[in-house]
Formats: sequence, structure tokens, C-alpha cells
Amino acid sequence: MDTNMCVVLSGLQKTLLPHLSRVVIDFVERSATAIRMRARSRVRRGRCPHCGTTSGRVHGRYLRRLADAAWGGSTVVIELVVRRFKCVANACPAVTFAEQVEDLTRPDRLPPEQTNNLHDIQAACPHLTATAEHVRAFAKMLTNLTGHQHLPEWINNIRTDDLPHLQQFADGLRHDYDAVLVGLSSPWSSGQVEGQNTRAKLVKRIGYGRANFDLLRKRILLPS
Ligand SMILES: [Zn+2]
Repeated sequence: MDTNMCVVLSGLQKTLLPHLSRVVIDFVERSATAIRMRARSRVRRGRCPHCGTTSGRVHGRYLRRLADAAWGGSTVVIELVVRRFKCVANACPAVTFAEQVEDLTRPDRLPPEQTNNLHDIQAACPHLTATAEHVRAFAKMLTNLTGHQHLPEWINNIRTDDLPHLQQFADGLRHDYDAVLVGLSSPWSSGQVEGQNTRAKLVKRIGYGRANFDLLRKRILLPS
């Protein structure tokens, strides 16, 4: 694509999709009912939400699917390539952190037009306002790993509001409280174990049930 075309497309993106001004759109695919876009952040470094240090050491990438406002009756899905950075500060409890794209993944940093729309919707329904506040508080706890400070208070706050669905969710958390508390407080997770489980199952299925234990053992232990 020549430079002039890039400038024109970038201008169109800014005008038509102002909330996507901080990302590069790699491709757009249209099917009969949906529009799918693949996007990634324009910036090279991420800021650790725990200590504020910026880091450019990419630990991995994953896809996050975000629903956007529909266009012409088609559902719009933005597939955002999110990088996970290694925090380079020695004393920081966060080993890695996921990047955030302003206006897109942070609900507290919406563009002015969307903030106004949100205020109008919330003003029309007090239950929705309360739900949005609780969900934001939970997201903050999840991002900053401050469950040990805020989880008991968050569960109590849910109890005082008449929000059956959130109360159901809070009851579920209470059933598995210790595990939830660690999940919302510690930078460590069981992701590595789950990944190894998935790999072992995949290796087994690739053998179509015909590989015996010795062969499976070798295939799992030997790096591919
Ligand atoms: Zn940090």
C-alpha cells in the first residue's frame, strides 16, 4: 500500500472510528451477518498498572474479542491482539501485566460521546447504574490484584443492593472464597498447569486412542 493511501485510510479511521484511533487495523472481514476486525495497539511499550513502570519486554500475546456498536445491521467484533509485558521493576509484585488500550479496553476512559451516552442510559435506570459501579469495582480489583483489601467489602455492597443476578454471582464467589481471594490478589495462576493439561489431552487425541502409555509418556516428556 503506498504512503498516500495509508494517510487517507488513517484519516478515515480517525473520522469514522474515533474510538479505534489508538490501534492499527490489520484486516477487516465481512460475512453475511458479521464484521470482524483484527487490531493491535500503536504503542511499543506498556505501563504496569501496579508500579507504573513502562516495559517493552513482550512476554506473550493473546486475542481479546470485543463487541462494538453494530454497523448496518451487522454485528461487529474487534479482535484485539493484546500483549502481555514483563514488568522490569524488581520490587513489583506483578511479574507480567496485560496492556490496556485507552478508549477501547478501559471503561473508565471512554471518549466524551460514549461517556455522555452511558450517563443517559444510567440516568434512565438506577439498577443499571448500581450494576455498572459494582462491575467496575470488580474489574479494578481484578486488574490491580487488590482482592485481599476489597473483596469482603465488595461482596457486602452487593448484598445491600437489589440486584439478583449480581447477588447470585457473589454467592458463587462465597462458595469458593479462598480460591477466589487468591485469584484476585496474587500475580500467580494455575494457567501453566491448565496449559500442560490441554497439551497432554491434545497429544493423546492425536494418537486416535491407539498410542499406548509408553508412547504417550515419551511424546509428552519430549519437547516437540
Ligand atoms: Zn510493575
